[in-house]
Amino acid sequence: MQALAVHDLVKTYRNGNQALKGVTLEVPEGDFVALLGPNGAGKTTLIGIVTSMVNRTSGSVRVFGHDLLREPDVAKALIGVVPQEVNLNQFDTVHNIVTTAAGFYGVGPRAARRRAQECLEQLQLWDRRKDSARNLSGGMKRRLMIARALMHRPRLLILDEPTAGVDIEIRRSMWEFLAALNESGTTIILTTHYLEEAEQLCRHVAIIDHGRIIEHDRMSRVLRRLKEQVLLLNLRDSVAQAPQLTGFPVRVTGEHEIEVVVGEGHDLNDLFAALEQAGLHVLSMRNRSNRLEELFFRLTSRAPGARPTAAEVMP
Ligand code: ADP
Repeated sequence: MQALAVHDLVKTYRNGNQALKGVTLEVPEGDFVALLGPNGAGKTTLIGIVTSMVNRTSGSVRVFGHDLLREPDVAKALIGVVPQEVNLNQFDTVHNIVTTAAGFYGVGPRAARRRAQECLEQLQLWDRRKDSARNLSGGMKRRLMIARALMHRPRLLILDEPTAGVDIEIRRSMWEFLAALNESGTTIILTTHYLEEAEQLCRHVAIIDHGRIIEHDRMSRVLRRLKEQVLLLNLRDSVAQAPQLTGFPVRVTGEHEIEVVVGEGHDLNDLFAALEQAGLHVLSMRNRSNRLEELFFRLTSRAPGARPTAAEVMP
């Protein structure tokens, strides 16, 4: 069963901006997916359409098999959303905020009170239930938005940058909470600017750029590719077929050119040894830029392939 099945989704805003150019994305039940992409890529638009905040131009969205246009109430009740901006009624109490949200989904008052206790305890806010939202710290407000999103027991939780600007301790406890929530069966999609966060939590990663999904793969495979270097070698002699270089995948890309992948665990010395063994004379060498690396470069403003420092990940 697909928790979310988006097919050929197109969004053209009134001013002619085409934010989504045919997005297809399937998220199986139980998955934990990171949606990454640079600013302006289309993440907010995609999430907006899935959560019924933005109208699509064309394409379809199904939530656990229910079409969002044909069965909007059923589909919406299956989704919980934690928006990027804090949008709590600052003068309302913590308890009231979550029980009111439950009411929107038709949860009765008694069930809502029981559920409020569960959710607020899970997010360490039960002691603060009588406080106004404005008296909470930034981290508590974010936790309250998660509690609010979980009141109707959604099977799919969508979080838009849940830990932006949140300090390290709160971020870690949120990671633990989300991992446990996913373990217990809730499918989770999150957008984040922290590669480390996606790496810690997510099984899959979808990367959107210029309104198109350019990558959707297992997190581990994407990370492995990020650690690879792809080199183009210009050879003195012409090559008809890919030479054997033990430990290095090779592809012929021109009469005198081959592409070699240097993966984790290998360095250039190993490559030169393998080239010598194969009797290949290299005239010049350059790095082939990789779309994914470039994207992460733009996302994180650091050298392609470099890992974030601890201070960047946990300010
Ligand atoms: P992201 O969340 O990845 O930063 P968005 O979905 O916000 O991307 O934006 C995708 C594209 O759509 C951008 O070019 C943005 O300028 C444009 N866009 C977003 N909202 C609107 C709007 N209300 N009207 C016109 N263009 C918009």
